Amino acid sequence: MQSLINIVLATRNTGKTNEIKDLLKGFPVIIRNLDDFGPIPPIVEDGTTFDENAYKKASLTARYLGLPALSDDSGLMVEALGGAPGVLSARYAGPQATDQERCRKLLLDLGDHENRRAAFECVLSLAVPSGAALTYEGRCEGVIAREPSGDNGFGYDPVFYYPPLNKTFAQLRMAEKSQVSHRGIALRELRSEFDKVLVWLRQQMPQFEPSGCMGSKKDC
Ligand code: IMP
Repeated sequence: MQSLINIVLATRNTGKTNEIKDLLKGFPVIIRNLDDFGPIPPIVEDGTTFDENAYKKASLTARYLGLPALSDDSGLMVEALGGAPGVLSARYAGPQATDQERCRKLLLDLGDHENRRAAFECVLSLAVPSGAALTYEGRCEGVIAREPSGDNGFGYDPVFYYPPLNKTFAQLRMAEKSQVSHRGIALRELRSEFDKVLVWLRQQMPQFEPSGCMGSKKDC
C-alpha cells in the first residue's frame, strides 16, 4: 500500500486548482487549496522577483498548515519598459483595475516604441514546513501587439502576440495556450519529474501517515 501525500495549493483560484489537479492525475497525491482550510495569516507578495514571491507563498503556507504547499507566481516582462510590469503585473493599473484597464495602460506606456519584445514568466515553488523547497520555471517570449485582439484567456493575453502561432494568447484555445505558455512549461516540468518529487517529499515529511488507500479495501 502506498500512502497518499497531501499537497496544499497556496491559492483560492479554482481555475489554477483544477489545472494542477488535472496535471497530477494518477499520482498518489491529494490536492487541496486554501479554501479547504481555516483562515491563515495573509501573505504579502512583496518580493522583487517571481521566485521570491512564489517561495514566500509556498513556504509560509507550508509552515502555517504543516503540509507541503505548492504556489505559483507569474507575470509579464516588457523589454522596453525595463521589465515592467513584472512582479507588479496584477496591480499595474491599481489594485482595483480590470484586465482591460491593465492592457490599456500597458499599450499607453509602450506607445509607439519599436521594441515590443516581451515575455511571460512563471515560477512554481513546492515547499515543506521546514522551508526546504523545489523550484520550476517557465518562460514564453512574444511581442506586445499594437491593439488588443481575442476574447479567451485573462490578464494580458489580448495584447501578447505569439509569433510562432501568429495569434495573441487571447486568440488561442486554452489547450493551445497551455502547450506553449510559461505556466504550461513550468507545470509540465514539475510533472515530468514528479516521481522524484514524491521521493523528496517522503524524505522531507517522514511523519506522513497513510491518509488514504490506493489498494483494495482490505489493505486500508
Ligand atoms: P498571478 O501569478 O496569478 O498572481 O498573476 C500575476 C498577473 O500576471 C496576473 O494577474 C496577470 O495580470 C498576469 N499574468 C500571469 N499569467 C498570465 C497569462 O497567462 N496571461 C495573461 N496574463 C497573465
